[in-house]
Amino acid sequence: MTENAEQILQTYFGYDTFRTGQKQTIDNITDGRNTLAVMPTGGGKSLCYQIPGMALDGVAIIISPLISLMKDQVDALQALGIPAVYINSSLTAGEQQSRLRGIEAGNYKFVYVAPERFESSAFISALRRIQIALVAFDEAHCISQWGHDFRPSYRSIIPNLKQLPSIPVTVALTATATDEVTADIQALLHIEKQNVVKTGFERENLSFHVIKGKDKATYIRSFMKEHRNESGIIYTATRKQADTLYEQLTKRGFSAAKYHAGLTEDERKEAQASFIHDEKTVMIATNAFGMGIDKSNVRFIIHYAMPMTIEAYYQEAGRAGRDGEHADCILLFSPQDVQLQKFLIEQSLLDEHAKQNEYRKLQAMINYCHTHGCLTAYILEYFNDDSRTGNNCGRCSNCLYRQERIDITEEAQMILSCVKRMGERFGVNMTAKVLKGSKDSRLHQFRLHMISTYGILSAYTEKELTERIQFLVAERLLVTQDGKFPTLQLNQNSVDVLKGKLTVWMYTAPIPSNEAADYQ
Ligand code: ADP
Repeated sequence: MTENAEQILQTYFGYDTFRTGQKQTIDNITDGRNTLAVMPTGGGKSLCYQIPGMALDGVAIIISPLISLMKDQVDALQALGIPAVYINSSLTAGEQQSRLRGIEAGNYKFVYVAPERFESSAFISALRRIQIALVAFDEAHCISQWGHDFRPSYRSIIPNLKQLPSIPVTVALTATATDEVTADIQALLHIEKQNVVKTGFERENLSFHVIKGKDKATYIRSFMKEHRNESGIIYTATRKQADTLYEQLTKRGFSAAKYHAGLTEDERKEAQASFIHDEKTVMIATNAFGMGIDKSNVRFIIHYAMPMTIEAYYQEAGRAGRDGEHADCILLFSPQDVQLQKFLIEQSLLDEHAKQNEYRKLQAMINYCHTHGCLTAYILEYFNDDSRTGNNCGRCSNCLYRQERIDITEEAQMILSCVKRMGERFGVNMTAKVLKGSKDSRLHQFRLHMISTYGILSAYTEKELTERIQFLVAERLLVTQDGKFPTLQLNQNSVDVLKGKLTVWMYTAPIPSNEAADYQ
């Protein structure tokens, strides 16, 4: 079988060798073992089910959440001479029926469907009558309610699969699986621990940057002037932001397209095509854009606002540099972004428990923006990939621009003892006010102006103090309780700092005095 897999790789796909994790996944599937493949975007997940699909008898069923992805994949397979088809709601009922008949007649090796297809009894009866080689769940994190894009229709596929005359081998593929999501996928799809194939998460050609305290629109204009002919995506948090930025940039003569769920399907299709074919260099979009877009030469991804989770961030940022060439992933941070994300969590229909989980993930995202450590290492650790622990990437904004290391232990002790004296019942802003010695009436209300640390760091501005506290949280020297109004609390590290057992280091210039502000 192995030789067969390699032959298929070479003769059909024209590649010499497998990438990390591909062969193991393929061997697992061809040997009939349910498998979860966790690989970064661009890692080559498609071949993991396409090769076994060709090697095994019967039809491979690929479940994919996005219609745009399906058509591209089917076109690509057909171009290689492999019979493939998709069925989704973009087809007329007549087309759907004739494709179903084609499947039953054995005309196709690969069938791509959206999860909703499993609600159709005609489709299920067709599946009952054919031999199925394998079932692949692409973007498998959508099956887990802990994932950042949970789709209930994904989950309801499982009982339907169980009713087939013989249960086919299943492969789940995703680029973003935390331990919780991995465990959930394993349990739902009956995947044993030894059949979880996780490759390293690092994308060595990507440089991560966090930019704070800059006017975002000005930064973007300056950046684009410097990178005029490079293809890039700018992600905004809202449709309105996308519209505004699009107008500002096109007015100034930049070549841009926009994409969000408020546009008609035709408008979106046209925008996407103009970007994919390099007629427009920059795509300004909400997170509605991108899943399954395989554009290899994206040189930068700018996040105009912080996303809600590291998973979402890494997936969106990961759309840069699929060709393996260097690319930049820039996050423009402002404190208002945090408020927006909290608002979205509050507005969501999640239950209290799930909301707390979202707040926890949001805090990890916020910490990413405040850490002075290596950004790449931070992301990898988040995904439990310890290959960079204690080993900096040397190419992220923190690695590149940090300069002198200073000891801020004493200052940290003052902040931590202030948190303690405030009874660990208040958040970042109130703590900054107390340290500053603010005249805010709320301090009087809680009698916080009476405590010994009131005004102890009055030489700093409240903003500086807020940043210092957030830095301590990001470095895990202080914790926040999850929730809408997170309160600061001490942990073992805080105690060690207070006792003088742990030194706190900070870098004087962790953030570049970025080119952008200067080259306008
Ligand atoms: P993913 O789905 O993991 O994001 P894809 O399956 O779209 O990634 O693969 C990304 C790119 O890498 C594609 O252009 C694909 O043809 C290419 N690729 C996949 N496997 C190999 C391989 N073994 N050797 C060379 N290129 C590969």
